Amino acid sequence: MEYSSQLEAKSSELSRTARKLQEANEKLTQISLQKDAFLSQVSHELRTPMTSIRAFSEILRDTDGLLPEDKTHYATIIHDEALRLTRLLDDLLDLSVLESGQVSLNLRDGRLDAVLDRALDSALAGSTRKLLVKRQKSTERIALRSDLDRLGQVFINLIANAQKYCDARHPILTISVHDVGGQVVVDFIDNGSGIPAEAQSMVFEKFARVSSEKAGGAGLGLAICREIMQRLGGNVTYLAGQGGAGFRVSLATNQEMAAE
Ligand code: ADP
Repeated sequence: MEYSSQLEAKSSELSRTARKLQEANEKLTQISLQKDAFLSQVSHELRTPMTSIRAFSEILRDTDGLLPEDKTHYATIIHDEALRLTRLLDDLLDLSVLESGQVSLNLRDGRLDAVLDRALDSALAGSTRKLLVKRQKSTERIALRSDLDRLGQVFINLIANAQKYCDARHPILTISVHDVGGQVVVDFIDNGSGIPAEAQSMVFEKFARVSSEKAGGAGLGLAICREIMQRLGGNVTYLAGQGGAGFRVSLATNQEMAAE
């Protein structure tokens, strides 16, 4: 009797182990599929600018008697595509460092209004597109202890997106700061056409693009924002029902703790 109950215990232990092995195996298969999908997306993103660079450099090399203005035009395309490649590689590298958790934070004391000022300057400087930014500066005077450069990077991405996707004729971005349940949140709401409900949950994924005609970047900006905010102990979410697109950045309630 004792022997048979021992056997039963052993057999259920074996089934548990077999189940765990099967689960681990399924997880490995899933990781491998994700890696394949990621690699194929990266190759696709790299191929497009590489193809232009190759084609236009061949024209420059092989065509006799090109007009100077055509030469300049082709060289500009090559230059812009090379810049796009560099940005893509920088973003991929940044994302992989953030995802690996190996990123070291540089905590400093600062103020939210100053971080927003700098982010607006760097997102809008040198841009030919106009953007009317509405702010209520008195609500932004909040002391922070955080990685201010990383937080600024999140703001820059959201401002640059608002500029890209807002109403082209009357481009407006409203930035507002609120206290939501004791947590400071910064809302970025533009007056573009927003993101359709069915796509709102996927825009933070890598290479997410809602509409191909509007595609400007590779779709890594929001994925980077999400990773940074997780590292800073806060988060970034989509705010539905705002008319245009709305993004909410929730700062960590305790920035010092978030960095540990
Ligand atoms: P991208 O470099 O393509 O802008 P992001 O990760 O920053 O990549 O954004 C992913 C996608 O989310 C964009 O391609 C765009 O379709 C959508 N999106 C982001 N911000 C906005 C916005 N303010 N208004 C409308 N769509 C947006």
